[in-house]
Amino acid sequence: MSRYTGPVCKLCRRENTKLFLKGERCLSEKCAMNRRAFPPGQHGSSVRRRVTQYGVQLREKQKLRRMYGVTERVFRSYFSKASRQEGITGDNFLRILERRLDSVVYRLGFTVSRPAARQLVAHGNILVNGRKVDIPSFLVKPGMVIELREKLANQELNQRSLDSARVRKVPAWLELDSTKAQGKILSMPTRDEIAVDINEKVIVEYYNRMG
Ligand code: SF4
Repeated sequence: MSRYTGPVCKLCRRENTKLFLKGERCLSEKCAMNRRAFPPGQHGSSVRRRVTQYGVQLREKQKLRRMYGVTERVFRSYFSKASRQEGITGDNFLRILERRLDSVVYRLGFTVSRPAARQLVAHGNILVNGRKVDIPSFLVKPGMVIELREKLANQELNQRSLDSARVRKVPAWLELDSTKAQGKILSMPTRDEIAVDINEKVIVEYYNRMG
């Protein structure tokens, strides 16, 4: 299955939550969740379906997958990797997602959304330990230094998003030097440091049920 490239606000309406896929618009009055907070489609505002336990698990899984913008195939492979690791599978799973380079670029405030961060990485504008890495799924490790290419570091849009990152607060497992548009990975993220409004336990139940 290829990556979703359709209208992203529909995804938020489908999941009935803000997935923050459009940057500044997500924080403004124009956000579709302020104006049309019901599922998309002809009967979105009228039909009320009974939600089964499976339905709850599926929606939570889709919500998280769409937040990070990964395909089902990749998402499932992260889950099997997480379940083979020591510790709590749900925590491991979120930690893998959060360590993706595109997510780290977003958390550091180099962009205003994860989709924009993915594009920045894919276009070769991010350096890891001084070398270009253009793979959004690259997983960062403690000690690595993530940098915006010099020619972009001074551009107005990037400065604006760095400012908003300071307001949003960079998580404690990362360290941002906004004057150099440079970040360092201090440690692996703990569950408390991963700001996603998700019940990962039901996602674990979903994949365990799928076998
Ligand atoms: Fe979702 Fe952002 Fe669109 Fe609002 S503006 S519906 S948060 S993508």
